[in-house]
Amino acid sequence: MSETVSTRTVCCKLALDSASNAALRATAVAFNRAATYCASVAWTQNVTNKNKLHHLVYLESRITYGLGSQLACCARDKAAEAVRAVRAAPERRDKQTGESIPRTCPTFRDDSSIRYDMRTYRLMRLDQVSLYTLGGRVVGQMDLGTFQRNTLYDRSWKIGGAELFCRDGVWYLHITQTKADPAPDEPTGFLGVDLGIVTLAADSDGETYTGADVERLRRWYRARRAALQRVRTKSAKRHLKRLKARQQRFQKDTDHRISKRLVETAKRTARGIALEDLAGIRERVKVQSADQRARHSNWAFLHLRSCIAYKAQRAGVRVVFVDPRYTSQRCSVCGHTERANRRSQAQFCCVVCRHTAPADYNAAINIQRAAVTQPMVPDPTLQRLG
Ligand SMILES: [Zn+2]
Repeated sequence: MSETVSTRTVCCKLALDSASNAALRATAVAFNRAATYCASVAWTQNVTNKNKLHHLVYLESRITYGLGSQLACCARDKAAEAVRAVRAAPERRDKQTGESIPRTCPTFRDDSSIRYDMRTYRLMRLDQVSLYTLGGRVVGQMDLGTFQRNTLYDRSWKIGGAELFCRDGVWYLHITQTKADPAPDEPTGFLGVDLGIVTLAADSDGETYTGADVERLRRWYRARRAALQRVRTKSAKRHLKRLKARQQRFQKDTDHRISKRLVETAKRTARGIALEDLAGIRERVKVQSADQRARHSNWAFLHLRSCIAYKAQRAGVRVVFVDPRYTSQRCSVCGHTERANRRSQAQFCCVVCRHTAPADYNAAINIQRAAVTQPMVPDPTLQRLG
C-alpha cells in the first residue's frame, strides 16, 4: 500500500506596519499579474509541467513583472496548478440549452493570494513571520490564539507553503502543514457504518448517531429561507447568507464529532471501517430508490463520509468500501433479501424469519459482513470536502 499524507491549514491574521502593508500590496499586484501571464502561456502552449513551464515564463516574470527569482517560481506554480485544475474539472453544461460550457484560461485578480514557499517566507520567534516582497523582506506579527499556536508549533506536523491574502484591509496567512499517515493497522474485523440523513450514522455495534439537531436546524432554515425569498430585499439576502453559513457550520461540526467517535471506536477495537461504495452504486445499480438518490447527492452525506475517511487515514484505521446492493433489503439474520423486508423507512422486518430491527442497524451489519466476504474496491468518488 502506498504511503499517504494528510494536510491541514492553519489560518492566522497578520499585523503589519504601513510600509510593509504597502510593500505587500504592490507585491500582490505584480505576483498575480505574473501568475496570469504564466497561466496564459501554460494554457496556449498546453504545458502544465512546472519545469517545462519554467523555461517559457521565467525571464518575463523577472523582467516585466519585477519578481525575485523565488517569487517568480511561486507565481509559475500557482498558474500551473490552476490550469491543471481547470483542465481536470468535469465538463459543465448550460442548464437551459444543455450546451457544453467551454473551459477558459484561469486569470488572477490583483488582490488574489500570494503563494509563498519555504524559500520566500520564514516563521520566526515570538510569532513573527518574515515575508518576501518586491522591496526585500518584511516582518509581520501573527495574531495566534492558543489553539492556533498549538497547531502551528506541533512538531509532529511539517510546515509547508503558505498563501497570503488581504480581505477588507486585513492580511491573512494560510500556512499548510503535512504529516505522513501511519501505515494502517491490519484489522482484526470491521465496524460496519450505514450513513443516512436523519440518523446520520448507525454502526454494526448498534450505536446510532442522530442528526436530530442538524435536521431541526435544517428544517428551520428552509422555512426561514422560503419566507426571506419572498421578501427579495438586499438585507433579506444578506440575512439568508448568514443563516446558511450558520447551518452549514453546525452541520460540519456535528460531522466532525460523529466521525471522530466512529474512528476512535474502530481504533480502540483494532477494527477497520466498512462503508458503502458510492462509485459502485452509480455504475451498477440502475434503479435507485428515491431515498438513495436523495442521500447520494446530498452534500451533508458526502461530507460526513469524507470526514470518516480522512480521520481514519490519519489514525491508521483501514477503510474499505463494499458493494451497496441489497444492504438495506437483506435480513442480517437469515439472509433473505426482498424489498418487502423494509416495512418502513425506519424499520426492518424480515418476511421469512420475522427478525425485526431498526433498518439502519440491519444495514450496518450487512455492510460489516460484506467487508469480510467481498473483494474491496477503491472509491474514486471520495474526496475531501473541507
Ligand atoms: Zn430473516
